[in-house]
Amino acid sequence: MQEYDVFIAGGAIAGPVAAKFCALQGLKTLLVEQAKVPRDKTCSGIQFPYFEKIIGDRIPADRLCHNTLSKVEMHFPNGKVTGRRFPMLNFMRNTFDEWLCLLAQNYGAEFRDGCRFKSFEEADGGVLIRLERGGNLETIKAKHVIDATGMRAVIRRQLRGDEGFKKGGNGATLNYYFTADGDLQPDTLYQFWNVEFNDAMFAWVYNKTLADGHDYWVVGTAHQKDIYLHLDRFFDHVKALYRLTNVNIVKKEGYSAAMSMADEKKIWLGERNFLMAGDAAGLIDVTRGVGMDAAALSGRLAAKAIGLSAQEDRPAIEAYSRLMKNLVAQTRKNQQNGGRSCETNEALQAHLDKGMLRMGLHMFFQSRLNRFRSAEHQVMLP
Ligand SMILES: Cc1cc2nc3c(=O)[nH]c(=O)nc-3n(C[C@H](O)[C@H](O)[C@H](O)COP(=O)(O)OP(=O)(O)OC[C@H]3O[C@@H](n4cnc5c(N)ncnc54)[C@H](O)[C@@H]3O)c2cc1C
Repeated sequence: MQEYDVFIAGGAIAGPVAAKFCALQGLKTLLVEQAKVPRDKTCSGIQFPYFEKIIGDRIPADRLCHNTLSKVEMHFPNGKVTGRRFPMLNFMRNTFDEWLCLLAQNYGAEFRDGCRFKSFEEADGGVLIRLERGGNLETIKAKHVIDATGMRAVIRRQLRGDEGFKKGGNGATLNYYFTADGDLQPDTLYQFWNVEFNDAMFAWVYNKTLADGHDYWVVGTAHQKDIYLHLDRFFDHVKALYRLTNVNIVKKEGYSAAMSMADEKKIWLGERNFLMAGDAAGLIDVTRGVGMDAAALSGRLAAKAIGLSAQEDRPAIEAYSRLMKNLVAQTRKNQQNGGRSCETNEALQAHLDKGMLRMGLHMFFQSRLNRFRSAEHQVMLP
């Protein structure tokens, strides 16, 4: 039986970042991803420049989309529109996550794709982990376990059951990829705040490069009910506003989360030597509209906590909870102040009026301060 210092399930963002930083400390690390990479993942794939700082490596140009996003255009429920310059990273999750897994491997972690975590059992001096790859079963042993399996969090569920998750449907997200002629600008991320389109945050339009090497527009939204109706209504609005012609939808993709975004037990960092990272820890933040930065930071800090636990001779969760204090506090605060409770556009506008100035100031100062902060002390935007 193979023995490891650290076992990590989930080869997306949190998992490979954790694997890289575990390997850098000389820890024998195994990272497994159930899918064969590159694999598709429904995600807008948009991040802020500090994301690269957290990962600690420069993203190669061929893992990014052709177009650079440098502007945000926000459409408010009262009809007002504002635009501001803001540089963003723009990538597709299939090629990006593959790069991150290979990066962890280059730093010395063992990476297996097409390898599924099945279950664990605690044993003397470690955890026995059952894996399945190509129909073959294998058991390995590890001292520390990181769950980075996203919102379905397979290890968390084995430890905690359904606590922090909502059974059944929890709303859906839908994207259409399309080609068209018209007035949309490829360097712009369009955000439409309107409860007629999206009841969680904003509906979106942006430009992406697909695996065929061509660029496509993406129009998408999230809603608790009737997702097609809300996206079609939003798409009609976009078509009229930007005078789109020759519209041709080439791909549709959907996603439904198993985790309740409002549940106060959503955020859970783990226990003893079982650490949760990224969405598995409940760190996705619908108020900020993103989660990959928190996933990367939590992966990096989980690795650091495991290194510290050996020095301190204490369970890794103690150092991890300490290191994660600010990120957890920010995510909790956003969860409590989120806009999901707004049922009308008037209420949403009032909510945004109250928060926009604060958010603008936060963006302005924190994006500048982040340049001087260490990677582990980055403050999440917006
Ligand atoms: C529609 C949508 C749009 C989004 N847009 C953005 C955005 O623009 N920017 C942003 O920052 N965030 C965005 N997010 C959030 C972002 O996708 C997540 O926060 C992020 O992917 C979390 O990363 P993670 O590594 O924690 O988990 P995930 O990305 O969910 O990855 C989990 C991995 O674990 C693997 N896995 C699962 N079970 C097993 C198992 N049993 N064994 C082995 N492997 C397993 C999965 O295959 C997967 O690869 C978006 C989310 C959605 C739903």
